[in-house]
Amino acid sequence: MSKTNHTILTDTFGRKHNYLRISLTERCNLRCTYCMPADGIALSPKEHLMTADEIYIIAKTFVDLGVNKIRLTGGEPMVRKDFPLILEKLASLPVELGITTNGVLADRFIPLLKKNGIKTITISIDSLHKDKFQKITRRNEFEKVWNTIQLFQKEGFKVKLNIVLIKGFNDQEIVDFINLTKDKDLIIRFIEFMPFDGNQWNIDKLVTHQEILDKVSYIFPLQIKRLSDTPNDTSRNYKIEGYQGSFAIISSVTNPFCDTCNRIRLTADGKLKNCLFSGKEFSLLKPLRANQPLNNIIKSALQHKFATRGGMDTPDKLQNPDLHSKNRSMIAIGG
Ligand code: SF4
Repeated sequence: MSKTNHTILTDTFGRKHNYLRISLTERCNLRCTYCMPADGIALSPKEHLMTADEIYIIAKTFVDLGVNKIRLTGGEPMVRKDFPLILEKLASLPVELGITTNGVLADRFIPLLKKNGIKTITISIDSLHKDKFQKITRRNEFEKVWNTIQLFQKEGFKVKLNIVLIKGFNDQEIVDFINLTKDKDLIIRFIEFMPFDGNQWNIDKLVTHQEILDKVSYIFPLQIKRLSDTPNDTSRNYKIEGYQGSFAIISSVTNPFCDTCNRIRLTADGKLKNCLFSGKEFSLLKPLRANQPLNNIIKSALQHKFATRGGMDTPDKLQNPDLHSKNRSMIAIGG
């Protein structure tokens, strides 16, 4: 990698970006209320979406610039018919490959995931109650997802569960989720509800980092152990003394972790997002199809990155729905 190239992924705040999250599709087989707007989204025409080869070429471009971690997201990445081909192509790159899935189709890909060296799986599940699961996902897939979580553990995968907490909906289940870590080496990740286009976000629905800790320490006084976070970690990690697993809190609303951000995102239609919250995007697919070089566009994208949350650096800005609508809905970013 030439001297100049290794700075391309460094922004004006000196943050090195070695972690690329790729949204493989805008489609999903669930309809989670905090992700997919009630009326759905206008899907991009197929010809505007990256093919498996284009995903590989763009990913390799980033790897050549210093990316060593790639996570596949969606929508739901596994609904793509060519998901196996994409996974095998990306698994040939020198990267740590991860997947975030809703678990509905995941069981059928266990052999493929193992063959391609995937040892950890992140599954989204926002309630342990079938009726509430159906309410938030608008689909009746609780058993399928729950059984798949058990199956992945039985198959020896490290399993992380993502839970988006919404006040008055599932915040009463925080301790139930933590109790899953008593005898199981699970990682429970509580995510603060974030504002995106069309997800009816407001501050009253937010369960803050501190509120989560207050609820946990009320039930487990003096038993909460603070674990060390890895560099660039988005989560603050904890453990209940004597429990097998651990829990984490991802608090980009009340306690953003932008100072150590190393993440950039590629959307299914080949646009580079320098931040989850940024409405500004840089097309890589069009220049790729025109055989134009990508490095300068990537460099420009990183040079335009804000210090915090795509410029929503104050609570007022974060609560401004006009700013939310300048960004995509979560379904088209992939978290
Ligand atoms: S909000 Fe943006 S800058 Fe902050 S951690 Fe997330 S992606 Fe990085």
